Amino acid sequence: MSHLALSQVSLAATVPAGSDLSLRRSVFKAQSVNFSDKSWAPVSTLDLKTKSGRLRNKRIVCMSVQQASAPKVAVSPLELENATEPPLNIYKPKEPYTATILSVERIVGPRAPGETCHIVIDHGANVPYWEGQSYGVIPPGENPKKPGAPHNVRLYSIASTRYGDYFDGKTTSLCVRRAVYYDPETGKEDPSKNGVCSNYLCNSKPGDKIKITGPAGKIMLLPEDNPNATHIMIATGTGVAPYRGYLRRMFMEAVPTFKFGGLAWLFLGVANTDSLLYDEEFRKYLKDYPDNFRYDIALSREQKNKRGGKMYVQDKIEEYSDEIFKLLDRGAHIYFCGLKGMMPGIQETLKRVAEERGESWEEKLSQLKKNKQWHVEVY
Ligand code: FAD
Repeated sequence: MSHLALSQVSLAATVPAGSDLSLRRSVFKAQSVNFSDKSWAPVSTLDLKTKSGRLRNKRIVCMSVQQASAPKVAVSPLELENATEPPLNIYKPKEPYTATILSVERIVGPRAPGETCHIVIDHGANVPYWEGQSYGVIPPGENPKKPGAPHNVRLYSIASTRYGDYFDGKTTSLCVRRAVYYDPETGKEDPSKNGVCSNYLCNSKPGDKIKITGPAGKIMLLPEDNPNATHIMIATGTGVAPYRGYLRRMFMEAVPTFKFGGLAWLFLGVANTDSLLYDEEFRKYLKDYPDNFRYDIALSREQKNKRGGKMYVQDKIEEYSDEIFKLLDRGAHIYFCGLKGMMPGIQETLKRVAEERGESWEEKLSQLKKNKQWHVEVY
């Protein structure tokens, strides 16, 4: 079984792998869309039945292959669009919301070191959020440090827009890397020390119940006051999660209140090609919105930087530093998300570039912070 590519049809379900589109279409008896008509509506929400009946009454959002590149997905604006402040901590650790797992999909290739999963959660429109916020997850079981008490909340950046992957405002997607512990001496995995929540999430199955809190966080909200702004987004690994949300809002959804006409520039650092996350989605934006989207990747185990070392995201930043500094001077927002360890190297690079340009990095940084152009969420 495999999940259909988003550029073809976005499903809340799985279909047989290897089947061609016509076969896939025949798997479903759609109630209100004519699949044989090449100009089928770009997006619809349907109730479905499969031959096996397994997906009975599941919702599906479908997009025509022919139309996928140009028109955006029409969404019915949520009330959230009119709010002036983001929702915050509607559900707290003492009284979490019980949501349902809809799907868990491994999204890295076989040669990726480690596993990353895309997890879609049904919150029934009860835990609304804005792009850039996080959900808390309370894994089941007892807190090893406080017998009798539940585990501590773990935060996960939300990887979807407020409309969710099914465009109906009822789901939230997370991008979770499984924390696996390897004994430094033997190099062998020690499952007793594997991360509790990430493994719980990556092992969960559709239909499982999950305790969530939030939404949390304001630092990574996408400023929408200027639809023509520049957003420079820097990520390592799962740090790409909030940017997937931003980019879907900018390029995938037709949101009446936010028509993006600026520049979004994503720098993504991962280990190798197999570790790239949401690459297909991003390449499609490159093709469809070449004037509004730039996408640069750093593959540390496959590419070399100009000094012959491993290519990290800061090396890509250095490569484009002139442009980046000019964009920052013109008011661009810059975001950093991912592992804590990414920041020292990036800060060093930015400082070196600033000095080469005869500028003081300390002054520049304090100005960027003062102007609310500088957004950091690392963990
Ligand atoms: P834990 O059980 O908390 O363990 C933490 C680490 O310690 C693991 O690596 C584990 O292997 C190791 N460990 C456990 N026991 C031992 C031991 N006895 N000795 C040595 N080591 C041990 N993560 C994502 O994947 N995606 C996101 O989008 C994301 N967003 C985040 C956003 C924010 C704002 C923050 C703060 C964090 C985010 N995280 C994200 C990280 C996430 O919250 C968790 O920290 C991460 O999933 C690990 O949690 P865990 O319960 O799996 O591991």
